[in-house]
Amino acid sequence: MAPFETIADGVHAVRIPMPGGGLPYSLAYLVEDHGGRLLVVDPGSPTDEATGSLLDAVDALGRTPLDAASIVVTHLHADHAGGAAALRAATGAPVLMHAREAQAVETIARGLPSPDLDAWGVPAGRRAELRAVASAPVGPAVAPPDAVLTDGELLDVPGRRIRVLWTPGHTPGHLCLHDEDAGLVFTGDHVLPTINSGLGLGGPSATNPVGDYLAGLERIGALDGQALPGHEQPFDGLAERCAALREHHLRRAREVAAHPGGTVWEIASGLTWTGGWDALAGFTLLSALSQTALHRDFVGRGGLRSG
Ligand SMILES: [Zn+2]
Repeated sequence: MAPFETIADGVHAVRIPMPGGGLPYSLAYLVEDHGGRLLVVDPGSPTDEATGSLLDAVDALGRTPLDAASIVVTHLHADHAGGAAALRAATGAPVLMHAREAQAVETIARGLPSPDLDAWGVPAGRRAELRAVASAPVGPAVAPPDAVLTDGELLDVPGRRIRVLWTPGHTPGHLCLHDEDAGLVFTGDHVLPTINSGLGLGGPSATNPVGDYLAGLERIGALDGQALPGHEQPFDGLAERCAALREHHLRRAREVAAHPGGTVWEIASGLTWTGGWDALAGFTLLSALSQTALHRDFVGRGGLRSG
């Protein structure tokens, strides 16, 4: 397999292998600036193999690790940010993330509260499997960043105008990057070509992740350009994809609203799930219940009235 794929002038996608048997790879991006250096977006998983793939691509571009000027992570998940510390050690480049994501990294490091299975109405016989996955470690801790990014700022990438766009929902500090002149949108896990990303996967949030996510979809869907996602492959039709994701979540919210007063368990068991409700167990069951709880909270806060 080629060490990278060139997407646009000076912009290269690198498939970074993922451990664990889920998705096969994440996508990192190497962006050449006009001073001969590189911006790295989402270095990938915390494994030697992942870091090696990225450094092989740097080498194949005729660059050295010291040419890396900065490392931006779209969000804190291990398959995007897990390799940031190793890459920083190899390159000396600073790691940057959104300020809210840096807070979430700290919160998660202190330990997240377990879901209230009682309040969710989970039957006694199904609690043990949920407790087991809820208490499993979320993966290796992500190192705190060297500096934080704020919404609307331009990255320090000579010769390019790359704007930081805060798109909470998948995680509280998820960000997308917009290369305004090249017409490229780095979408992280905010928008993937076929996968529907889970929401609220970065610890507690004062706002509802579904509402946050829908607002972010509207914003990103209004941009013109090719989408460079964190998994699968680059794609066109960003506006259509954002509209489809928006409709998916609104449909979910309307289904949830049709069961007023039900517990999360009762509501979730009446919804349609890929592969069917009965096939959900352990992690996938916990995830289905969490997503249902978020949509119920979204409806409870009047989200469907404004959406
Ligand atoms: Zn993610």
